[in-house]
Amino acid sequence: MEDRYGHRISYLRVSITDRCNERCNYCMPRELQEWLPRDEILSYEETLRLIRIAADLGVTKVRVTGGEPLTRRNVVDFVREIPKIPGIASLGISTNGTLLTREIAPGQTMAAALRSAGVQSINVSLDTLDQHLYAQITGRDFHAQVLEGIEAAIQAGFDQIKLNTVLMRGRNDDQLVPLTEFAGSRNLILRFIEMMPVSTTEVLSDENFLPIADAKRTIEKRFGDLIPEPSFRTNGPATYYQIPGREQRIGFIGAMTNLHFCESCNKLRLTCDGKLRPCLGSYLEFDIMKPLRAGASDDELRRFFIGVVDRKPEQHDFRNNYQPDRKMIAIGG
Ligand code: SAM
Ligand code: SF4
Repeated sequence: MEDRYGHRISYLRVSITDRCNERCNYCMPRELQEWLPRDEILSYEETLRLIRIAADLGVTKVRVTGGEPLTRRNVVDFVREIPKIPGIASLGISTNGTLLTREIAPGQTMAAALRSAGVQSINVSLDTLDQHLYAQITGRDFHAQVLEGIEAAIQAGFDQIKLNTVLMRGRNDDQLVPLTEFAGSRNLILRFIEMMPVSTTEVLSDENFLPIADAKRTIEKRFGDLIPEPSFRTNGPATYYQIPGREQRIGFIGAMTNLHFCESCNKLRLTCDGKLRPCLGSYLEFDIMKPLRAGASDDELRRFFIGVVDRKPEQHDFRNNYQPDRKMIAIGG
């Protein structure tokens, strides 16, 4: 699938729940805390059918997200089916890490079960190494569990583990160097993410917005000039650098300040309530649950996907006083 601007769509991010066991204030502001009713959520079978259709159309990579995907029942049984779909070559999951150590079979952690179900890469959110700050940001006291979860993921032997840190001026600026050391000592890829006006615009003010350029400066002050690695890409829009004198690689995701951010976009999103979204930073969304539940054929659903891709905007709207219409947690970050 290719859109009008030459974006080739090969990557589907699939949100399987809008629920979460944390309350990160940039993602789920207090006034937005209510869940979708269960019958408005796609079943696993419905979701797998849509992934199959997307794979028919050239999607090769799937990332499962949420909300917190690991809070949904039988998630391991669901993800096990994804690599079996012809054409799907890469499977990842994004998680807050709190449930990775949960024992889901005798002697088997959630992390190990996901790995043996065919998940190749795992992204864990970690904004700070400070337990108190972690509780302030996420609204929950799960810091120790997350650190244990990261160790469980390392033990499980994923091909790639990334840590994602949302940048917040005045909150975690002093955490950037400790987080870099933490990631380096465990051979993990750390990525710094600019805060975006998803969920609500209130969380994003001039006072708390920390651009990736500032974060890069902080890192360079401590480690020296970062070495660009333009040829290194994962599936997303991050730009990567090597830390001088180290094997370590870090990434920056600057949706707000990088004006070329959207040029290489290869992504489509499926929300847990069956909406296809061609862009995170756009109001456009298309209800594929309706035709799906009304008995549409595979061919009709394929045409629906193609129509959505055809409407994909050239770039996101975040810089144009964007007022979010849907909380991040219900889109799938
Ligand atoms: N619950 C999982 C987690 O926290 O990783 C997966 C879903 S979460 C919505 C996916 C990613 O979106 C996380 O890395 C989170 O930090 C990021 N995120 C949420 N709200 C954001 C915002 N307003 N700006 C930038 N990133 C955000
Ligand atoms: Fe939950 Fe992830 Fe959103 Fe935090 S960022 S509230 S962990 S979905």
